[in-house]
Amino acid sequence: MLKKELEIFTFEDLLNHFPIRHLDRTKVQLIGQVSPAMDMVQVKGILLSVELIGERRAKRLVAQLRDQSGIIELTWFQGITWVQKSLVIGQPYLAFGKLGFFLGRPQLSHPEMEQVVDGAAPVKSFLEPVYPVTEKLKARGLNGRALAKLTQQLFLVLEQKDLPEILPESIIAAERLISRWQAYQFIHFPVQQDNYLKAVTRLKFEELFIAQVRLGMLRSVRHRYSRGVTFARVGEAFNTFFHEHLPFNLTGAQKRVLKEIRQDMGSGRQMNRLLQGDVGSGKTIVALMAMLIAIDNGAQSCIMAPTEILAKQHYNQFSKLLEPMGIKVGLLTGSTKAAERKKVLASLADGSTSIIVGTHALIEDAVRFHQLGLAVIDEQHKFGVAQRARLWEKSSFPPHMLVMTATPIPRTLAMTAYGDLDYSVIDELPPGRTPVLTVHRLDDARPQVMDFIRSEIALGRQVYFIFPLIEESEKLQYEDLMQGYENVKAWFPEPQYWISMVHGRMNAEQKEVNMQRFVNQDTQIMVSTTVIEVGVNVPNASVMVIESAEKFGLSQLHQLRGRVGRGSEKSYCILLSGSQVGKDAKDRLSVMCSTTDGFKIAEKDLELRGPGDIQGTRQSGALNFRLANISEDRGLLELARGYAEQILEADHRLEMPVHLPLKQFLQIGKAKGEWSKIS
Ligand code: ADP
Ligand code: MG
Repeated sequence: MLKKELEIFTFEDLLNHFPIRHLDRTKVQLIGQVSPAMDMVQVKGILLSVELIGERRAKRLVAQLRDQSGIIELTWFQGITWVQKSLVIGQPYLAFGKLGFFLGRPQLSHPEMEQVVDGAAPVKSFLEPVYPVTEKLKARGLNGRALAKLTQQLFLVLEQKDLPEILPESIIAAERLISRWQAYQFIHFPVQQDNYLKAVTRLKFEELFIAQVRLGMLRSVRHRYSRGVTFARVGEAFNTFFHEHLPFNLTGAQKRVLKEIRQDMGSGRQMNRLLQGDVGSGKTIVALMAMLIAIDNGAQSCIMAPTEILAKQHYNQFSKLLEPMGIKVGLLTGSTKAAERKKVLASLADGSTSIIVGTHALIEDAVRFHQLGLAVIDEQHKFGVAQRARLWEKSSFPPHMLVMTATPIPRTLAMTAYGDLDYSVIDELPPGRTPVLTVHRLDDARPQVMDFIRSEIALGRQVYFIFPLIEESEKLQYEDLMQGYENVKAWFPEPQYWISMVHGRMNAEQKEVNMQRFVNQDTQIMVSTTVIEVGVNVPNASVMVIESAEKFGLSQLHQLRGRVGRGSEKSYCILLSGSQVGKDAKDRLSVMCSTTDGFKIAEKDLELRGPGDIQGTRQSGALNFRLANISEDRGLLELARGYAEQILEADHRLEMPVHLPLKQFLQIGKAKGEWSKIS
């Protein structure tokens, strides 16, 4: 039963089934001194009376306990017969329970009673653990108390050698951690609160440290053994582009990241790099220049985008920049027509196309490269690991991989969820951008909002209206969107205003036409769902209105807002909502109004939602810590990471004698010792 319900299979599992809280029965209060500020209290006195009161459902057992300072009432509503039988009037008892007051008189409901024998109060010498149990276990009579007994018995037979230290002595000393053995004792049976806190810190650190050492070893194995194409030179294509065609100066961050990529690709091993950069930070040009290095080394590249709109946009940008240099760029998406597709595939296979831009269509079997050297994945969160892996198979040597994401991931999360990838950040926006001004307005301020939008359009700017449509199939939301479209149209009638609309139920062609009209400034307004979210670039658009903004998550709001503020004009993001907005939603909206820093927003998101919900990390398994929480324990995580790196740097195979216990622990996975299974 333990096995199924709590996944407790071994003694070790039992030790790792940690209490959720402790009860303090180490003290005895004077009855005359209990106060409403107390929660659980323990008192000692003589049992004066025990009576049954009330009828049927209102039936309860009421007793009185007296010490030298006063009298307290004890009540039971359940198990009455049994309790009544076990109590002896006139005897001394310890009573422990939840304190309440009725008409100013103190009461304990359902107290636990313990008879005091020989006048000695059996006050506990440690805090009593309360363990989480499931309803099923409870129903079978196995409660937290029974688990506590089991654990206590286990400690009677355990010795220090059964829970040997695994952390190097130097770390323990430097961080003043308590020993592993002591930590396990104290997390279950602390003598006082301080013991417990020390135990938790020690075990959290251990958990995070072990995870970081594991990831670090994975990284180092990959670094040492994965072979890849060596891009030894930076040649004509790169240099010509850099000196003659680059439309702006690179930011410091872009240069730094390019250098990291160059080093990776020249190292002889396969690059596996995650590139993070806030929306608009200029990741595309970095990818393009990495591809030029591939060209200089005789290899082809591909860049895979999550939507057709985005693929098309990259294609236009790439071909505009590169065709003057005689570099051939191709486009392949789901809607590429058969004849065109055949041509594209042929030129990829014979190597005459150097760069191919596309969507998922790129991973189909029919796509063959002459020599694929670099694969770039844009907007990483829309692609799974499996899809990435299919790109590898397209080459005799695994191509270098550059995975780009505009969803900023908090540092701590990146360290744990993607800790086995190398990791670059563009943490600087190109110069000359004015941050988007974000405001929250209630629905009834609509007339003023519309006036403002009219004035922006009069200045030649364009506007987005975003409606929540999470599942493309949901009919209700679809109708909402159509209603929204009609409303916008009523405020902005033809022929003075023209409106584009893009949503998930349209086919690629319809989307494309509408998008193109907006890009060409034939329409001033774009009504859309979140399909517009990723990557779309219309620098002339200066206002984004988000309808029912309370329904969006933080990172989504941030992504959407990234669609404006791309040109030199001052841009605005207006979050509309009704007046009834929940606390979390209110928090989200106010975060949006207070910062445009994607990393700050991501941290906040992590705080509000917890790590389990952050996009793409749910199944990673890297976040399943028993005690640690990467949001709350950031400091500890950074510390653990630092030590893990330090150790692996000095001894990447953990062969030094001081690292042997750690190595053993990692190899066994779980240090089983000599413990037998719980049968
Ligand atoms: P994202 O990182 O969101 O993909 P993009 O690569 O689309 O951002 O870049 C956003 C805009 O900034 C593009 O119009 C791009 O041409 C421009 N840009 C990129 N780098 C620079 C730079 N160093 N200086 C000026 N503009 C830049
Ligand atoms: Mg982009």
